[in-house]
Amino acid sequence: MLNLVLFGPPGAGKGTQSANIIRKYGLIHLSTGDIFRFNIGNKTELGQLAKSYIDKGQLVPDEVTINMLKSEVNKHVNPKGFIFDGFPRTKVQAEALDEFLAEKDAKVAGMIALEVPEDELKERLRKRAIDSGRTDDANPEIIANRISVYNNETAPVKVFYNAQDKLHKINGLGGIEEITDAIIETIESLKD
Ligand code: ADP
Repeated sequence: MLNLVLFGPPGAGKGTQSANIIRKYGLIHLSTGDIFRFNIGNKTELGQLAKSYIDKGQLVPDEVTINMLKSEVNKHVNPKGFIFDGFPRTKVQAEALDEFLAEKDAKVAGMIALEVPEDELKERLRKRAIDSGRTDDANPEIIANRISVYNNETAPVKVFYNAQDKLHKINGLGGIEEITDAIIETIESLKD
């Protein structure tokens, strides 16, 4: 299995790049944000709970997120691997993922961290709100809260993978294809 963590602040381009990478490598894309939004759309119990956090720009509690992620992974038989997009977002989630994959004799091959300056992120989210209808993209205060949650709770996840020599930083500014190429180059260096 080739398991990758795609990492970056809100608006870094994780979703766009995931689509390009799964096409090339036949991996399964698991975006915790997408799964939460699917549940919100279908008005499930999980969706109602997640919405109460997402609408404030807060993280959904670890236990809920970890259990959901595990059950999504377990839906797949003999997967080639996964791209985890938006997960892990806390150190607790990162530790849980390592443990969970170890039970399957698998591991995270690497973290691909897209780096984009904060001004550019705010501008991208403002534009995305117009098309996506995402309520958490529409309000500058909620965006600011998400960026601050990212800096305080999520950025330490980079330190966690760096300590395992698995952190690969990619410049998230530039053309979409150019960034995809840089990611592919990194993935090639990770393959056995
Ligand atoms: P973005 O990367 O633009 O912030 P996502 O679609 O990844 O958007 O996530 C949207 C929201 O879903 C987050 O702001 C958070 O509230 C919730 N969420 C997504 N993934 C996680 C996670 N791993 N842990 C906790 N909350 C999460």
